[in-house]
Amino acid sequence: MIDLHTHTNESDGTHSPEELIEEAVRAGIEALAITDHDTLAGYAAAVEPARAAGVELLCGIELSTKLRGRSVHLLGYFLERPPSGEFTEWLREMQASRRDRNVRLSAHLRSMGIDVRLEEAEALGRGMTGRPHFARIMVQKGYVADERQAFDDYLDESAPGYVPRIEPQFDEGVERIRAAGGLAVLPHPVRVASGRRIEELLPALCEMGLDGLEIFHSDHSPEEAQYYLKLARKYNLAPGGGSDFHGDLKPGLRLGVGYGDLQVPAWVLEELREAARRATPQPLRGRPR
Ligand code: AMP
Ligand code: FE
Ligand code: FE
Ligand code: ZN
Repeated sequence: MIDLHTHTNESDGTHSPEELIEEAVRAGIEALAITDHDTLAGYAAAVEPARAAGVELLCGIELSTKLRGRSVHLLGYFLERPPSGEFTEWLREMQASRRDRNVRLSAHLRSMGIDVRLEEAEALGRGMTGRPHFARIMVQKGYVADERQAFDDYLDESAPGYVPRIEPQFDEGVERIRAAGGLAVLPHPVRVASGRRIEELLPALCEMGLDGLEIFHSDHSPEEAQYYLKLARKYNLAPGGGSDFHGDLKPGLRLGVGYGDLQVPAWVLEELREAARRATPQPLRGRPR
């Protein structure tokens, strides 16, 4: 069994990197990619435990990007070599901008009568502290009934408490991943555009240099997976697949098998490797920043 889409508590998962590897062993996972949001820290911390446990660990990341004004995730897989220093430096800048946003978010919420200190949020989220952590504390302190309400009334992009942060555009994400020697894969396309509307988008994403499409995912029905596989073949995209495991954040979703019947075939990883071997790192085009 393989699982190429998982999160640790270095982003919004609840398992530490060590615990995730233990879980992988229990679940009988042979190859595991850690794809934390906007950080490689979980992967780095899991390298040694994975080696000791005999689990093949693959380096991945899930970038938060903007595409036509909407938030769209983008997976990066580094199968042949670790990501370049330029890429890790860029991640550090993104992290700094996130922290700066959190400082302003805390102050803005205070001006609305909501007391969530930065330190409280960071105690939960550490290096990847974000709105979900602010939401959890707002629930704990009784400002809102649940996290849903925290977003609806305060934190969502359309809500009055929203404070923006720098987020890369989707095409910059693709370009950065490829320049760093990685493969850019679109995760859970079902969340990007419903039904066949993804077909209106894919040609443009391929034009940007997209390398792959996630076929097997906990949110995809078997029929959807078959449909995305057909699209991947049509557009010459490498296949991806994983559970999107987040630990207790997504109850009922298990490593490797998702909600029960997920199965990521071994050929997914073989084809990704093949694509990685063929890819030649492209130098970054100069872009205004
Ligand atoms: P941040 O990276 O701090 O801006 O927070 C982004 C994260 O907040 C996303 O990955 C989601 O998990 C969560 N999020 C964003 N908007 C909503 C929403 N309307 N409802 C629930 N969760 C959301
Ligand atoms: Fe997540
Ligand atoms: Fe995602
Ligand atoms: Zn994910």
